[in-house]
Amino acid sequence: MMEKSRAWIEMDRAALRHNVEALQKRLPPGCALMPAVKANAYGHGAVSIARECQTMGVDAFCAATVEEGVELRENGIRGTILVLGWTDPRAAVQLHEHKLTQTVVGLAYAQELDRLGKPIQVHVKIDTGMHRLGLHWEDLEGMAGIFSRENLRVTGAFTHICADSMAKEQGRRFYRAVAGLKGHGYNIPKIHLLASQGLINHPELGGNYARVGLALYGVGAPELRPVLSLKARVAQVRELPAGEGTGYELRFTSQRPSRIAVLAIGYGDGLPRSLSCGAGRVLLHGKRAPIAGLICMDQTLVDVTGLPHVSPGDTAVLIGKSGGSEITAAEMAEQAGTIPNEIFSRLGRRLGRHLC
Ligand SMILES: *Cc1c(COP(=O)(O)O)cnc(C)c1O
Repeated sequence: MMEKSRAWIEMDRAALRHNVEALQKRLPPGCALMPAVKANAYGHGAVSIARECQTMGVDAFCAATVEEGVELRENGIRGTILVLGWTDPRAAVQLHEHKLTQTVVGLAYAQELDRLGKPIQVHVKIDTGMHRLGLHWEDLEGMAGIFSRENLRVTGAFTHICADSMAKEQGRRFYRAVAGLKGHGYNIPKIHLLASQGLINHPELGGNYARVGLALYGVGAPELRPVLSLKARVAQVRELPAGEGTGYELRFTSQRPSRIAVLAIGYGDGLPRSLSCGAGRVLLHGKRAPIAGLICMDQTLVDVTGLPHVSPGDTAVLIGKSGGSEITAAEMAEQAGTIPNEIFSRLGRRLGRHLC
């Protein structure tokens, strides 16, 4: 099956299971994993990642959108599915029908959801300093107003840490808000504030869930293993005399008689175009080969002059291991001037995905 794809992603099931167990060992008491499987599980494939976690007893997940939540439900994912982002109140019926939990970012929004007239579970988002979504941590009146909506069931409250240096202060503000609500007689079944970095660097902040994304996929702590490999086939190999330009705008010029391999993957698959012209490397036969010229939408040229055995049909590794060498998502991200999350989440739907 894999051999027939032009470009594909391989997911290492053993690595995923290892990461789930490794992260569970880091959990503070009373805390469970709530994997972030938004953006197609950071490009890994939301349904297969959530299913695998479910077989390990994980029973809570975060999505970013209502559509992502529905996709999980329609593929047999049970338990809590928290929609982290904004949902148009006109789509609220889907929250009710699929028993999704919606993040509520303010009192006015709560009132709009309430108007559906059917029960919806919600988690209250508290802004403790990031100033993205949520109610200000001192706005107890607003939060209390959400609790008193007839059709909303508040099953949780959470915040999001925006910087390592802010974590302690954000934790203090969050717990003060939670205590304030308790003081008014509002019980909150689940509270949560840790994402990957929070769990790794500030587990003492506690909570009932850790919303881990990047760490689950193997980035951020030494004991974690990369889950994803990105591979593509060599479509063609050609010899060029010295002084010949190749690709769009002829941005690569051979300095010597050269061999150029054409890979069947491009920026249309999510390969960052900023890796063009030697910024990025790929592995062929365990050796690094530089990207030659501008990455195209569906193809990428690489300079394999030093690798005489590269032939059409070979597999190039863009993220992952080949022989004794490895290109990590972090390395690719650095070369592309971005972060692994962006690399992962932009990997396209037309890539094959195989859980191995
Ligand atoms: C994406 C997201 C997470 C997961 O973040 P990682 O850093 O990948 O662990 C957690 N919480 C919220 C609110 C998010 O948007």
